[in-house]
Amino acid sequence: MNILVTGGAGYIGSHTVKQLIDVGHQVVVLDNFYSGHRWAVDPAATLVEGDIADSNKVDQLLKTHRIDSVIHFAGYIVVPESVSDPFKYYENNVVGSLRLIRACEQNNVARFVFSSSAAVYGLPDAEQVKESAGLKPINPYGNSKLITEMTLNDVSFAYQSQKTPFNFVALRYFNAAGAQVAGNLGQATPEATHLIKVACEAATGKRDQMKLFGTDYNTPDGSCVRDYIHVEDLASAHLKALEYLADGGKSLRLNCGYGKGYSVKDVVAMVKKVSGVDFTAIEADRRPGDPPSLIADNTKIKNLLGWIPQNDDLELICRTAFKWEQAWQARQQKSR
Ligand code: UDP
Repeated sequence: MNILVTGGAGYIGSHTVKQLIDVGHQVVVLDNFYSGHRWAVDPAATLVEGDIADSNKVDQLLKTHRIDSVIHFAGYIVVPESVSDPFKYYENNVVGSLRLIRACEQNNVARFVFSSSAAVYGLPDAEQVKESAGLKPINPYGNSKLITEMTLNDVSFAYQSQKTPFNFVALRYFNAAGAQVAGNLGQATPEATHLIKVACEAATGKRDQMKLFGTDYNTPDGSCVRDYIHVEDLASAHLKALEYLADGGKSLRLNCGYGKGYSVKDVVAMVKKVSGVDFTAIEADRRPGDPPSLIADNTKIKNLLGWIPQNDDLELICRTAFKWEQAWQARQQKSR
């Protein structure tokens, strides 16, 4: 396939590009380097600097490279930031995605895989949330993902009887974490806010301490519970989604998680264990926009895509994340 990957220089994007190249696809990466890095893009991919909202550029790329499939990662991902700066999220995640989807439809792109989020569920009432659960996001980030899913759904419906019908898979990510087992890729986002990355930075000494945001939730130990999924398993779900669409599969929304929950305190204990460092984690107020618990029911993705996770292990997730953090910081120091 000829695949355009937006945000392919970012954390999940770069792991996915590597897997796409390894199985022989032609890959074009479009990235504005807001949080991505050139070095993270497999050299066999064509790398173009630019923005998803630049319709002329996207149109040209789709034509020049005869793109038949798009994987759309590019987007902002920080929940509390979306609460304090909603314009930023609606502008990029909603308007940018809309422009990209329109360009795809106009250029006969048949397959579209979208980075959606478990944030579309808001406060699920079941312990493991199914795709059929109510969609009531509780923050602008979740809203921005839901609006884009709805756009894709409407476009897919409107153009289903065209010569090239437009089908999509929206993958509702739970918490992506960890780093490539081979050690060459990992999360290199500046000023990262995500739990495992922050804990690893505390373990290496890059931060003198970290905070546990909220320890009075109605959860087993009072801290929030999440379903952490290793980034390479998340990446492989994108390849499975493309295969499914290439086999004639119709549009779908799928949870992407392991179906297991770990609390913030569990994760911090695990990062302490794998690093051997007893860093300081102080109890702090709740963070705006955080649901107490989010765990996937992953029956649908396993059954429909035949997705088989390889790295379903919190210890491996934290170990690869910590090793990557050490390597990444050493690399940054060298380049100073
Ligand atoms: N969290 C925390 N300290 C941090 C970063 C995150 O206690 O420094 C908590 C956060 O409040 C949430 C959980 O860890 O309960 C997962 O947050 P993260 O930002 O990693 O992912 P999200 O679930 O928001 O996408």
